[in-house]
Amino acid sequence: MITRKYIVQLICCLTLGFFLAQESKASVTLVQNMDQYKTATKSLIPGDTIMLANGIWKDAELILQGNGTLEKPIVLIAETPGEVFLEGKSNLSIGGNYLIVKGLVFRNGFTPSSEVISFRIDSENLAFHSRVTECVIDDYNNPDRNAQDTWIMMYGRNNRFDHNHIEGKRNVGVTMAVRLNSEQSQENYHSIDHNYFGPRPVLGSNGGETLRIGTSTYSLTNSYTEISNNYFDKCNGETEIISIKSGKNVIKGNVFLESKGSLTLRHGNGNIIEKNIFLGNGVAETGGIRVINAEHQIKDNYMQDLSGEDFRAGITIMNGVPNSPINRYHQVKNVTISNNSLINVASVELAVGSDGERSARPENITLEKNLIISENAADIFKTYDKIDGIHFVDNQSNFQSTLIDKGLETTEIKLEKGSNGLLYPTDLSIQAGAPRDLRVLSIDETGTNWYVKKSKEIVFDVGKKIKVSPGLNQISDALSGAQTGDILELEPGMYEQTKVLDITFPVSIVAGQDARISFEGNSLFEIYNGGALSVTGVKVTGKNAADAAGNAVIKINRSGTLRNYKLKIEKSEFTDMSVNHSFNFLEASSGSFADTIEISNTNFKNFTGSILALNKEKEDLGKYNAEYILLTENRFESIGGVIADIYRGGTDESTFGPYVLVQNNQIIDAGNNSRNKTDSSFYLYGTQWLVLTGNSFLNSAPVKVIEMVGTPYSLFEKNQFDQTKQIIHSKNQVIK
Ligand code: CA
Repeated sequence: MITRKYIVQLICCLTLGFFLAQESKASVTLVQNMDQYKTATKSLIPGDTIMLANGIWKDAELILQGNGTLEKPIVLIAETPGEVFLEGKSNLSIGGNYLIVKGLVFRNGFTPSSEVISFRIDSENLAFHSRVTECVIDDYNNPDRNAQDTWIMMYGRNNRFDHNHIEGKRNVGVTMAVRLNSEQSQENYHSIDHNYFGPRPVLGSNGGETLRIGTSTYSLTNSYTEISNNYFDKCNGETEIISIKSGKNVIKGNVFLESKGSLTLRHGNGNIIEKNIFLGNGVAETGGIRVINAEHQIKDNYMQDLSGEDFRAGITIMNGVPNSPINRYHQVKNVTISNNSLINVASVELAVGSDGERSARPENITLEKNLIISENAADIFKTYDKIDGIHFVDNQSNFQSTLIDKGLETTEIKLEKGSNGLLYPTDLSIQAGAPRDLRVLSIDETGTNWYVKKSKEIVFDVGKKIKVSPGLNQISDALSGAQTGDILELEPGMYEQTKVLDITFPVSIVAGQDARISFEGNSLFEIYNGGALSVTGVKVTGKNAADAAGNAVIKINRSGTLRNYKLKIEKSEFTDMSVNHSFNFLEASSGSFADTIEISNTNFKNFTGSILALNKEKEDLGKYNAEYILLTENRFESIGGVIADIYRGGTDESTFGPYVLVQNNQIIDAGNNSRNKTDSSFYLYGTQWLVLTGNSFLNSAPVKVIEMVGTPYSLFEKNQFDQTKQIIHSKNQVIK
């Protein structure tokens, strides 16, 4: 009988060619399950190919071990690239020489170990001269966002990771790392190229890097890893998009699109950063290159429309620690930064982080022939210490800087698009800036051509409208038939909910006229992982709520949210949440994280608890519960607890937020309940950006702002305080 296996073998032998046909022992084996896989991979010889049958492989822990040769590698391949799905608790580890893995998709699950793809089987069996190509890891996350793992870990030497599609890491842990933790993994000459590193959402914690090369322990060792022609698309995990922690790496020809954070030379010396393109499109916190350590060359890079400052400036040069311990900040020395274009970049910052500990100023740094153009000819240089060790030579700009006395020539510079789509001076005699023939990598050259690169961001109001009539549990009934992006339109009348509204996908609830909701449980809404809620124009009373302490109008499920959620409330009313003590509006949970909480034109009245209880990450590890909190034109009256109780503790400097905007609100009798231990109407601990303007306070507890690490920004303007103490503002509490 001619079996499917026989046909596949025949075809493969023909297509893989001559070598395999000649080698009598080497074979192509199609395997259907793990038993067959284990048998087939027991003793692999050069030229062997193992082919995974199309379909879903559940809980498959694939180990590929063997020694191929340059001419006859050992190959693990999908029957059809993109049609072999590794799901559940699956992973892959490879060890030996000349191995190739191609065409696998990891999704719908997470690794049972600490890595999804590992270039070693154990500490004795590493991979060399091996390649992982055209594989996908998409949203393959442990449901607990605080559970740490790494998707790809490279060990050994001379390995290549290329044309892979890596997207949607949401839990703690760097997406991909190169380890140098044994001699066999040092001076490794790996290549990481042509990969698509797709969106990684803001983590709200350290450990959200997309790529890390080395660790501080081995950072004085050279890695010789080349990171070239990769696309970093919205890699927003934390302040370090790439964290270089070793020496002699080359980072070349990559594109960073709308990625929050910067390419950081965190540890190690002698790295080369060239011909990379950073396009921020004005998105907040998009940065360029942050420089620490010695002997780097930064040349021919192009940056445009980057909004980041401080650690995320276009170029950030840090101050170091004298005789720094290996894990702190070594002095920046002998670095050249030349022929880079910085077009409409918000800031270039020098001697950043200068303080009692970081007192070693940059030494023997040359900035030469850079083109620096700022919007409206504003001076974008900032310094935090003397910059006598930084020399400017033949740089061109369209603005004057009071900080730089020579080497920065100021003229009016007109720009036009070059054939590569980037901006260059119309005056061809201007020699400064990135080369005119700089090649711009296209997104299509990265990842695979069979896996789509499309945005999976949460959006409201993209689905259908569902009319809802008043009555008992009518909203929950409507919700059970709704789908992502749908809009429940409430007709006027009284809605009673005895059931909690479980929000498991993005949904909007909208009322044009008088729609009133009362609820009987401990909460009206519960937001689960994957949920997002928009509420407009409803009136909610807590009069019938359960007589229990600690109710909340909206609770975030206690297992947290792996996917960041959004909450939007407008033109609504929430009253009489007072049946028992500590009745909150929003109760976050540990391990939950909101991208945005936006509340406007809404009345809150008679709460025994707090409005926003975003204070559930108490370990002082730099974690917090929400990135953007925006409160505008609301009225808060008789709120026993805190209007916004926000906590971000610890000295970690890896994250962006919390950002808090409190504007044009009326606050009457807030924060006065004796159970409110903070004695405040706003308790803002460790916020990084705060604007509190145009608010009126009457008979309320004071606003308390406790600034922590970093360079937090706080602005207080045009607030009125009537029978209310002034703002208590303690600045920059640096903890050592
Ligand atoms: Ca970090």
